[in-house]
Amino acid sequence: MTKIFNDPSEFAEEALAGFCDLHSDLVRQVPGGAVRRHRPAQPKVVVLAGGGSGHYPAFAGLIGPGFADGAVVGNIFTSPSAQQAYSVAKAAESGAGVVFTYGNYAGDVMNFGMASDRLAAEGIAVENVLVTDDIASAPPSDIAKRRGIAGDFTVFKVMGAAAEAGAELSEVVRLGRKANDRTRTIGSAFAGCTFPGAQAPLFTLPEGQMGLGLGIHGEPGLHDTGLPSARELGQELVSRVLAETPPGAGQRIAVILNGLGSTKHEELFVLWGTVAPLLRAAGYTLVMPEAGELVTSLDMAGVSLTVTWLDDELEPLWIAPAETPAYRRGTATEPDGAITREETSDGGTSAAEFAATDASRDYAAACVAAIRAARTLLHGAEERLGRMDAIAGDGDHGRGMVRGVDAAADAAAAALEAGAGAGDVLSAAGDAWADKAGGTSGVLWGAGLRAFGECVGNTARPDGSGLAGAVTAFAHRIVQLGKADIGDKTMVDALLPFADNFARLIADGQEPGEAWTGAASAATAAAEATAGLLPLKGRARPLAGKSLGTPDPGATSLAMIFTVMGPHFTAAATAADPVEAK
Ligand code: ADP
Ligand code: MG
Repeated sequence: MTKIFNDPSEFAEEALAGFCDLHSDLVRQVPGGAVRRHRPAQPKVVVLAGGGSGHYPAFAGLIGPGFADGAVVGNIFTSPSAQQAYSVAKAAESGAGVVFTYGNYAGDVMNFGMASDRLAAEGIAVENVLVTDDIASAPPSDIAKRRGIAGDFTVFKVMGAAAEAGAELSEVVRLGRKANDRTRTIGSAFAGCTFPGAQAPLFTLPEGQMGLGLGIHGEPGLHDTGLPSARELGQELVSRVLAETPPGAGQRIAVILNGLGSTKHEELFVLWGTVAPLLRAAGYTLVMPEAGELVTSLDMAGVSLTVTWLDDELEPLWIAPAETPAYRRGTATEPDGAITREETSDGGTSAAEFAATDASRDYAAACVAAIRAARTLLHGAEERLGRMDAIAGDGDHGRGMVRGVDAAADAAAAALEAGAGAGDVLSAAGDAWADKAGGTSGVLWGAGLRAFGECVGNTARPDGSGLAGAVTAFAHRIVQLGKADIGDKTMVDALLPFADNFARLIADGQEPGEAWTGAASAATAAAEATAGLLPLKGRARPLAGKSLGTPDPGATSLAMIFTVMGPHFTAAATAADPVEAK
């Protein structure tokens, strides 16, 4: 149970602020995360680690000489937004390029990808290195689909050391990918973890049971077994990892025995007593092994075993010195000439100016009302959506949607107040949604709303076919970013039936209000029908079987939101009189 907090929704931000104050000799807080206190005298490649909060010391605890140059810090178990990644990169970048490195989760891939596009458009060299070490999350034939867990630590360490030694961007990336290709992890959980303020753990295991193959977001294990002795557990972990020895691997390995949050060091040492002899008996030399908390999952009870097969290139990088708040090895110092960063205003936004017609401003008021209706709905549905997501995902869907819609409603109202037309109001809402919600659904909803707004524009009040075009743009953007097909068990399964039906009913001559109601019913039915599907995209995929019988949370929330937004979007589209803002 997480016991120390104020407002649970501010937990991640307050933890980051406290951490940055405590370690102000090494790190400096910036919008979106933290960077090293010192800026290098010479341009160097900056290695930016990232992901959600709740995994300390991953990721901000690893900022410092020899390790990461900065961390992009999302909400608990939730990908940071593209804006956060962009902002941290801008604060850290020193002229030799940026590499974002993170575990392979859809939300992170999309958000860091969008930030990379934006940096590249400004002429900044940028690359992404994904960690895919979790052997329980996909079979060897599907290795690229594996998620990243404690192997983050070795991969980030190798890249940080390479960048510190002056390697250029392509070289840092090559070495990071090589380390990832040679890293394998298996985890097991004994008890779930609890979000700050939550009444119940994300998942539970029956007393005396262990879930093998856990993810670091509390995704339950792939299968449960009786709790073994430490000796049996060590044998199980070692044999599973060694069964996945990469081709061409040598006999020198880095080893991490990682505690997930509430496993004591003494327990790890007992387990090490089995793990180390087994590895040595298999002919391996253990190079600077680690046992401790390196990548955690809030207060989860559990362990994972990571092995990275070293070679002549990787070993010196693994053993190179590092000096970070959470991890020290040897004596690493800032290179001579490093410059202390002063507080700057990077990442801030200036007030925008809006051009719009009165008709579009009237319609913008209806858009604000639509988003407010979604906000009321989502506050009521938060817990239910979270429970649905916890069955095979990470349980954050309700919370993420509420954070997103709250930010969207505030940004939309502020834009309206500042004189924005409907297009700018919706775009501002989308940007705020993506920035504050994080996660997969956050980036998709944010980008979708922006596309919807760009299509509606700031001049005319849309008619039926204009609305159909905007709905189609919303759907296209989400499919383009998330690359999900119908039947993958995602929000797309409700979204495409909505968009197709709405466009068809409008083309058949129905009034927008009537067409929207028809399309929303189709979306609701399609969302319910996802209960029979196995998830093929997103976090729920590794636990596909568990999700059978439960509808997809993202499809469910989408159908609900479209249903309540409809009257606002459509009445104002057809109404002769302007609609008043509420
Ligand atoms: P996260 O998966 O990052 O925890 P959420 O829990 O907020 O994010 O959202 C989960 C929902 O996101 C899923 O129920 C699904 O509808 C949707 N989703 C996941 N991956 C994709 C994708 N590639 N394309 C479209 N929707 C997706
Ligand atoms: Mg989730």
